[in-house]
Amino acid sequence: MAVSKYHTTADIMQAYQAGQRAFGESRVQELCAKHDELPQDIEWHFIGHLQTNKVKYIAPFISLIHAVDTISLLGEIDRQAQRHDRTIPCLLQVHIAQEPTKYGMQPADLIRLLEDGQWRTMTHAHITGIMAMATNTTDTMQIQAEFHTVSQLFQQVRAQYFSQDPTFRTLSMGMTADYPIAISQGSTMVRIGSKIFN
Ligand SMILES: *Cc1c(COP(=O)(O)O)cnc(C)c1O
Repeated sequence: MAVSKYHTTADIMQAYQAGQRAFGESRVQELCAKHDELPQDIEWHFIGHLQTNKVKYIAPFISLIHAVDTISLLGEIDRQAQRHDRTIPCLLQVHIAQEPTKYGMQPADLIRLLEDGQWRTMTHAHITGIMAMATNTTDTMQIQAEFHTVSQLFQQVRAQYFSQDPTFRTLSMGMTADYPIAISQGSTMVRIGSKIFN
């Protein structure tokens, strides 16, 4: 998936002409403006921190929300998706990096959310995988260890809660600086920005 945040619609169109269809944005306003302006067969992903009160703006068209980290956000996505008579695929964001500023759930909190079971009552927000970011470091062993931990968690969660659901299959991890390591650890979706647009 091509991360097009901060890049112009002209830049996005260049990637589009080359065949790219999935683009990721991290700000609601910017995303909505680009969605209005650009071809309607683009698959838009939301990759940033999503505020509950802004879900309604992207619910009509969003293809995948990468960074769900609370049950209340998931609940609002479910409500808004229902209003628009659609199902919105969502990834649960797990916090694995050794950086306090990034969003996401601790692995134990993620398990607690799944164990609690409220998500099972949601008919229009559908959990299809896990998303994570590694620490921004040059220590490749650390990055590898973090992605490995996420990958183990992904497999555990799939076996424990989604064994009957083949749509739970997305492990979103890896950006420009660390995507080869992410792929080596089982990533199924990399989010590449600067390597494509800069
Ligand atoms: C910006 C961003 C990316 C892309 O980062 P690059 O280093 O430019 O590839 C990926 N994921 C998230 C969540 C981002 O915010």
